[in-house]
Parts: sequence; structure tokens; C-alpha cells
Amino acid sequence: MHHVIIGGGPAATNAVETIRQFDGGRSVVTLVCDEPAHSRMALPYWLAGRIPEAQAHTADAAWFARLQVTTRFGVRVVAVDPPRKAVALSDGRTLDFDNLLIATGSSPVRPPVPGVDLPGVEPLWSLAQTGRVLRYAAAVEAAGRTPRVALVGAGFIGCIVLNAMYERKWQLAVVEREAHLLPRMLDATAADHAQRWLARCDIPIHCGKTVRQIRQQADGTKAIDLSDGQSLTADVVILATGIRPNVELVHGSGIATDEAILVNDRMQTSFPHVYAAGDVAQGPVLFGTAHAVHPIQPTAVDHGRVAGANMAGHEVRYPGSLTMNVVDVCGLQCVSFGRWDGAATEATTIDNRAGFIYRRLLWRDDRISGAILAGRAGDLGMLTDVGMVKGLMQTQTRLGPWKQYLRDNPFDIRRAYIGSGAAAKLAGTTLLGRPSEARRFRFGAADPEAAVSAAHAVFFAKA
Ligand SMILES: Cc1cc2nc3c(=O)[nH]c(=O)nc-3n(C[C@H](O)[C@H](O)[C@H](O)COP(=O)(O)OP(=O)(O)OC[C@H]3O[C@@H](n4cnc5c(N)ncnc54)[C@H](O)[C@@H]3O)c2cc1C
Repeated sequence: MHHVIIGGGPAATNAVETIRQFDGGRSVVTLVCDEPAHSRMALPYWLAGRIPEAQAHTADAAWFARLQVTTRFGVRVVAVDPPRKAVALSDGRTLDFDNLLIATGSSPVRPPVPGVDLPGVEPLWSLAQTGRVLRYAAAVEAAGRTPRVALVGAGFIGCIVLNAMYERKWQLAVVEREAHLLPRMLDATAADHAQRWLARCDIPIHCGKTVRQIRQQADGTKAIDLSDGQSLTADVVILATGIRPNVELVHGSGIATDEAILVNDRMQTSFPHVYAAGDVAQGPVLFGTAHAVHPIQPTAVDHGRVAGANMAGHEVRYPGSLTMNVVDVCGLQCVSFGRWDGAATEATTIDNRAGFIYRRLLWRDDRISGAILAGRAGDLGMLTDVGMVKGLMQTQTRLGPWKQYLRDNPFDIRRAYIGSGAAAKLAGTTLLGRPSEARRFRFGAADPEAAVSAAHAVFFAKA
């Protein structure tokens, strides 16, 4: 049995590791990826200076050797032929497969604006782009100035990158085409909290405006001309104006696509021996019947594990992904889950402008089908409540009398979470029908930096 995996992101690496957990090395596995195996969501930590580049890598040659996986890094798959069970590589070779996994992720979209290809104008999507942005900023700092950065696009990825740059203490400005920031994640009231918060951080936000052009100026800076006639000056421009799934590879192959590659609850495409996972897959969702693309790390990990188990011959069905967005907007935590924008749904809302606190729970009968939360991490319960709301939704727990309790006491999530039995249900839930195993990969065989604290150790029995 030969499994070929295209990609090296979380969907691909989790699939490979799951295949090995189930088959113990009995199959042949080949992984082809044009980039090193790494996690894009770690890039902002590198950008912020919290980790070295090496810690964005999620596997190395020794790790793949231990898993008995043949790797072809720096190589692209250029064609897929499901009936003939073969893929063509950019180095002219072909690989035959029994099972194929397509985990090619997504790519940033550059807006069609003059100047988006100038040096110093970058999406922040890859290791190479992150390295370039850091080098541009270092050159400005070496000249004795604070780097000025204009961020174009204040969606989920844009705000994560903004937070990293804020930690660097760079001088920032944001341009967002829509009427408010995080338009596909927060309603207008929650976004207003975040925008007032950013004003306190001295970060100007230009909402409802587009970029007309980006011009190189004689002093090395860039002018960003906006639709209202205003012009911003920056050393670096970061583009965060949306992404699209990398589906071109399968066009003409017969594999069914919609927005992305359509998969069933076993991650199989329209060819049962061809699987897809992660950002490139359009799969089952919780709280909805239509398949959707949820381009986030947890979905990529779950997809990869479900695909891996099925490729290894086990029937594992995926219950569906949950839209979940959690962003630290320069100190204000902003979160949304599920059908947070369900306009006609019954809702329970708290809105405290002065305290920067916002909570909105959306109901479908006595279950929570969507939620928005905003607040400071240090506020009582903010972070633990986020996890508990997610748990209530993932288990689709019927709250019964606890619904009225939460409507009367929207801050007391904990009591409803325990009382409704959600915690107990969650503790018994597994994705693959058995407990997950720790990855045990450490880059460069490094030990974990932080020892388990005494407070944490209470929760873990030593084996
Ligand atoms: C800056 C940033 C921050 C993020 N932060 C978060 C976060 O906080 N939380 C969250 O949930 N998500 C976050 N994400 C999104 C998350 O990283 C993605 O959802 C996740 O990486 C998707 O995983 P994947 O395995 O599907 O694809 P990817 O991680 O994109 O991996 C796909 C790999 O396949 C390679 N490839 C593509 N085509 C081919 C081909 N034809 N041949 C060979 N190789 C190919 C690609 O180059 C890439 O290396 C962030 C993303 C970015 C960019």
C-alpha cells in the first residue's frame, strides 16, 4: 500500500502521523511539499520576536525518518491523475499511489492595485515572506527609525499579524475596505469595542476605504493612496486581503470541486482513493447542512487525522467543523464561534462599552448555535469562558433549564457548563475513537522550555 501526501502543513503532517499510529509502519508513505513542514500560525510568534524561526517548523528529517516517511521537499506536484493513480512532479518524475491525500492549503490573494508587487509590499503567509518583512524592518531600525507599517485588510489573519507587530512596537496604521474591522468574524457592536480599543493603542483604522495605488517614494518609503484622497506613508505594507484554496492542481482531473475540493465525512473526494484535507477541502460542518471551507488550524488538524485513519483502513467519520475565530487584538480578546451572524436567531447579549465587555449567545432551541465574546484576557472568566462556550457548542448540549439560567446570568457559563453535563460529555469525546497521542516531535530534539508547574501537575497523574 503506497500513500502519497501532497503538502507539509498541519493537515498533511497529522495525516502522516495518524497513518503511522494505525498501521505501525506497514505501508509506504511519500510526502511531497514545496516548502519545509511548518505551521503558518506560528509565523506571527516569529514576527513578534517570541520564538526563533526554527520553532515554526513542525518536523525535520530525523522525525520523518523515524516515521519511515520518504520526503520530497522543494518539489511541487504539477498534475493529478485519479483513474491512473499517479501524480506528476515538478522535477519530471511521476509517483504511483494507492491512496492520495491533497493537503495543499490556500494562498493569499493580492488586490488588483498598482504597486502591490513593489519590494516591501508583502502578504504575511509564508516563512519566506515573514523573513523578508523582518529584514525590511531591521534595516529601518538600523537607520535609527521605528518601522512604519501599513496593514491592508483587517480580517482574522490581518489582526493576528497586527498584534505581532504591536508587540514589536512598530508604528502601525490599518486600512479596511468594509465598514468595520473583522467583518467576517464580529458584528458591528463587537467590532466597535475593538476599534475603540485600537484607538487607545494609537493605531489609526481607516474603515470603508480602499487602496487606489501604492507608490515607491524617493526616500525609500511607500505612499499608500486611499479612495478618500488621503495618503499614508509606510516602510512596509502588509497585504491581508483574503485567501483562496489551492485547487488549480485538480482542475481537469475529474475531482469534484465547488469553492474547494468537496469531501465527505471520511475526507474522500469524488474518487474514494483520493482524499483532501485542511484549507483546500470543503467538508461537513457543525450547525449546518451545506459543506464549507473553514480555513483554520483546528479544522486542518482534524481533517488530517480523519483522512489518515481512513487511509490506514479504519472507518472514522468526521462530525463536522465549527467556525471558530480567536484573535488577540492588541490586548482585547475577540472571539466568535459557529453561526455568530444568525440574524433571525434568538440572542442573549451583554454590552458594556466602558469596560470593553461584549457577549452575545445565539440560540437554536435550547442549544447555543453561535457566540461572540470580546473582553480583556485579565477579565474574570474571559479565557475559561471562551473554552466552555466552545465545549457547549461542540457537544451540541441541550441546556434545558440552564438556558434560562444563562439568559439571567450570562457571565456564569461555568455553572451551566458543568450542570448541563457538557464537561463530562466532552471528556469522553474522541475524534478517532481512541485517545489522541502526543506528537513527541521537538525541533532539534529540544526539551520543552517550561516545566509543568505545581498548579498544573495536580491535574496530571504520572503514568
Ligand atoms: C500568519 C498566519 C496566522 C494564522 N493564525 C492562525 C490562528 O491563530 N489560528 C488558526 O486556527 N489558524 C491560523 N492560521 C491559518 C492556518 O495556518 C491554516 O488554516 C493552516 O495552515 C491550514 O493547513 P493546511 O495543512 O491545510 O495548509 P498549509 O498550512 O497551507 O500547508 C499546505 C502546504 O502545501 C504546499 N503546497 C501547495 N501546493 C502544492 C503542490 N502542488 N505541491 C507541493 N506542495 C504544495 C504549500 O506550499 C504548503 O506548504 C494562520 C495563517 C497564517 C498565514
